[in-house]
Amino acid sequence: MLFVNNLPVLATPFEVLQELKAQLHANGIERFAEFKIGVNNIQFSCPIHKDGQERRPSCGLLTENPKDPHNTGLVHCFTCGYSATIEEMISHCFGYDDIGNYGREWLVKNFLTISVEYRKDLALNFARKLGQEACAYEYISEYELNRYRYIHSYMYKRKLTDEIIEKFDVGYDKDFMLKDVRIPCITFPVRDEQGRTLFFVRRAIHQKLFHYPEGVNKPVYGLYELPKDAKEVYICESVINALTCYVYGKCAVALLGTGTDFQYEQLKRLPVRNYILAFDPDSAGRKASERFKKALGKYKIITEVVIEDKGKDINDLSYEEFINLKKYF
Ligand SMILES: [Zn+2]
Repeated sequence: MLFVNNLPVLATPFEVLQELKAQLHANGIERFAEFKIGVNNIQFSCPIHKDGQERRPSCGLLTENPKDPHNTGLVHCFTCGYSATIEEMISHCFGYDDIGNYGREWLVKNFLTISVEYRKDLALNFARKLGQEACAYEYISEYELNRYRYIHSYMYKRKLTDEIIEKFDVGYDKDFMLKDVRIPCITFPVRDEQGRTLFFVRRAIHQKLFHYPEGVNKPVYGLYELPKDAKEVYICESVINALTCYVYGKCAVALLGTGTDFQYEQLKRLPVRNYILAFDPDSAGRKASERFKKALGKYKIITEVVIEDKGKDINDLSYEEFINLKKYF
């Protein structure tokens, strides 16, 4: 098993390498022509020497280390002698020489956001079709909600106010377990339109990690809390960005990702005429915005705010920066 920031990577090492190969390919970079899976290692075409075009795989990744389970993910090439961690190798493949920082971010972004939830009683019977009203969840009990009703300073660090924490029932779960690793989290109850809690989105306090229960059909976050007379609504990807809009006096919802057909249906039905797209300023965000306009452009007035600073999202903006965002049709 691979680890990143001491968290288990929720995919096999082979899946990680395949995803890496696919994303490099999508960027016009051909690497990892061949794989050979061994007992405790995977051999692959070395991405370093011969400009990454080695025929016979001679570079290996250590995938199991019984003596020291956390010490896997080491890469070594028997031909050119390259030695690195998998994070460093990923960085290198994407053109970064940054002691593996980019590689770590890449692993977190691709393999830690959606993961296994060990609460067996949480989400049963997903069998019903997408687009149908509320699949048969067992709702989260008031008892469990109550267990998380604490304030943690991280909430204020992310600019949440007491009023917003109360309104959205933001909580703190200090004992959340993910594959035997304890990860203190901020909890955001996701409610259906009647206010029943379907599941939690968790944001780790010490790591850049969002967690959703596996296999849930994500509804639009914030529909229940939306004021009945809302005239315009900001559409964000993440919960924290949506709540930041409220802190700055604007109504918002979050798609908990880049948008699904089920969510477009929900937003189509909503008696709100103006949607303001506020997706993250990256390629996923741009695609999300295109898809959204295609799905709802006929029914709603859609404008878009564009954050010029690529590394930022709504939560990073000051009130002035937020209010002065340029709107585009
Ligand atoms: Zn090599």
